[in-house]
Amino acid sequence: MPRTSYAIALGSNRRHGRHGSPDRVIAAALDALAAEGVTIIRMSRVIATAALGPAGRGFANAAAIVESDLTPPALLALFKRIERAFGRRRGRRWGPRVLDLDILLWSGGTWPPFPRTAAPGQLAVPHSQIAARAFVLDPLLPITPQWRHPLTGRTVRQMRARLG
Ligand code: ATP
Ligand code: CA
Ligand code: CA
Repeated sequence: MPRTSYAIALGSNRRHGRHGSPDRVIAAALDALAAEGVTIIRMSRVIATAALGPAGRGFANAAAIVESDLTPPALLALFKRIERAFGRRRGRRWGPRVLDLDILLWSGGTWPPFPRTAAPGQLAVPHSQIAARAFVLDPLLPITPQWRHPLTGRTVRQMRARLG
């Protein structure tokens, strides 16, 4: 498929044996994406966030704008492969994790294509929680304030402002 743009989220709250601290994990994850042919257009700073769930430690969160010729499901498959390569174990949603890669926004609009909607557990783009999470919108805002959510019509700046 033709090259399209994505806004993605990167998170880590566990050291990696070789890469080191969560902010180093995020930098290494971007390198891994670039090595797979994903073009990094803009990278946010890495923001430290207090843990929400029982993970018991803070997250490092970042966002990036990337370009790829992959469809959203193919990009998600690549994300899962990279997460596994970084030693992420399955089935512990809010627990400590070396790396979490999520698709936030896509220049192609929604996935699945409108008017379909994602079944539970299936890929949904924009990310279902994007408008509800400061730790996602805070790093995203400086790198793409005007990108509009295709369903609500709100820009990243407007979504962040509504969170207070
Ligand atoms: P959350 O989605 O609330 O941020 P999480 O990232 O901790 O939770 P995971 O365990 O990493 O959740 O992923 C669970 C499933 O979410 C994945 O298998 C994937 O199919 C699905 N998913 C749905 N939408 C997306 C998206 N936009 N980006 C990444 N994964 C998604
Ligand atoms: Ca996530
Ligand atoms: Ca995820």
